Amino acid sequence: MAEPSGWLRRFGAWLRTATVRLALSYLAIIMVMSLAFSVVFYHASARELARQLPPSSLFETEFGNFRPPRFNAFFEDRIAEGRQALLRRLVLLNMLTLLAGGALSYYLARRTLRPIEQAMEAQSQFVSDASHELRTPLTAIQTVNEVALRRKQLTAEAAREIIEHNVAEVVKLRALTDGLLKLARNDSASVVTSAVSLQDVVSQAMEQVVPLAQAKEIAVDDQVEPVMVVAERQALQQVVVILLDNAIKYGPDGSTVFLTSQTRGRFGYLKVRDQGPGIRPYDQRRIFDRFYRADQSRSKHVVEGHGIGLSLAKQIVQSFDGDISVSSSVGTGSTFTVKLPLA
Ligand code: ADP
Repeated sequence: MAEPSGWLRRFGAWLRTATVRLALSYLAIIMVMSLAFSVVFYHASARELARQLPPSSLFETEFGNFRPPRFNAFFEDRIAEGRQALLRRLVLLNMLTLLAGGALSYYLARRTLRPIEQAMEAQSQFVSDASHELRTPLTAIQTVNEVALRRKQLTAEAAREIIEHNVAEVVKLRALTDGLLKLARNDSASVVTSAVSLQDVVSQAMEQVVPLAQAKEIAVDDQVEPVMVVAERQALQQVVVILLDNAIKYGPDGSTVFLTSQTRGRFGYLKVRDQGPGIRPYDQRRIFDRFYRADQSRSKHVVEGHGIGLSLAKQIVQSFDGDISVSSSVGTGSTFTVKLPLA
C-alpha cells in the first residue's frame, strides 16, 4: 500500500492529540443528547400529526355518512408530507448541532487542557533547568577526578586537594538539590502556620549568616521589632536567610545591611536593604522566576548561585498568603520587602 501523504499523516496525528480526543468526547455527548431528543420529538410530533385525521363520526348525519371521496387519502398525504418536513428539519438541526457542537467542543477542550498543558510545560522546563544546573558541578567533579587518575603518581598532598575540591562541590550540590526539592514540592496545602515573632526569626536567621558577613566585613544593622505574623517558623527563617545571604553576597565588602520592620493595616513588613550594585528594572521583574540570574558581565566579582533562592522565598511567602517585592536603583542598593498577615 502507498505511504499516506504528509498532510494525511499530520491530520492523523492531530486527531490523536489530547485536545481533539477530549473535543470528540464532548461532541459525542452533545450528539447523543441531540439525537435522543430528536427521536423523541419526532415520534411525539408524528403522533400529534396522525391525530389531525378527522374521526369518521364527524361525517355521520341522519341521512348517512357523507365523507368526501379520497378524503382520508388526502389527509394521510398531508400527514406524510408533514412527517417528511419534520424529519428534514430535524436532520438539518442535527447537522447544525454537529457543526456548532464540534466548534464549541474544540473550544472547551482547549480551555480545559490549557492549564494542564501549562503545568506540564512548567514541569518539563523545571526538570531541564534543574538538570542543567546539576551538570556544571558534576562536570567539575568529573574533570578534576579524571585528570587525577591520569597522573602516574599522586602525592598525598595532591590527593587531599582533590578530595577537598570534591567535598566543596558536593556541598554545593547538596545545597542545590535541597533547594530544588523544596521548590518542586510546593505543597502550600500542607503548610502549618502559627503566630511567629519577626524579631525571633530574624535573630535566628542572623546566626546562620554571621560567618559570611564576617568574611566580607559586612555589618548587619537589626532594627526589627517583635511584630507577630502568621507563618511557619522554619520556612520564614529560610526566607530571611535567603535575603540576608543575597544582601551579603551582592553587597560590597565593608558595607552595611539594614533590617527593619513595620506594620500597616492587616500586614507586617520586613525590609532587608543592602548597599549592593542594585538591580535593573528589567531584572527586577524576573529575579523571582526560577533559575533567573541577572547578567553579571558588568560587575567586578562574579557571584556564585543558581537563581533558586528568590523563587523559593516567593513560594514560601505566598504559601502564608503574603508577598515579596523588591525596589532597587542601580548603584545605590536594593530593598527586599516581605509582607505577611499580622497574627
Ligand atoms: P542566586 O543569588 O543564587 O543567583 P536568587 O534567586 O537568590 O539566586 O537571586 C536571583 C538573582 O537576583 C541573582 O542572580 C541576582 O542577579 C539578583 N539579586 C538577588 N538579590 C540581590 C541583591 N541583594 N542585590 C543585587 N542583585 C540581587
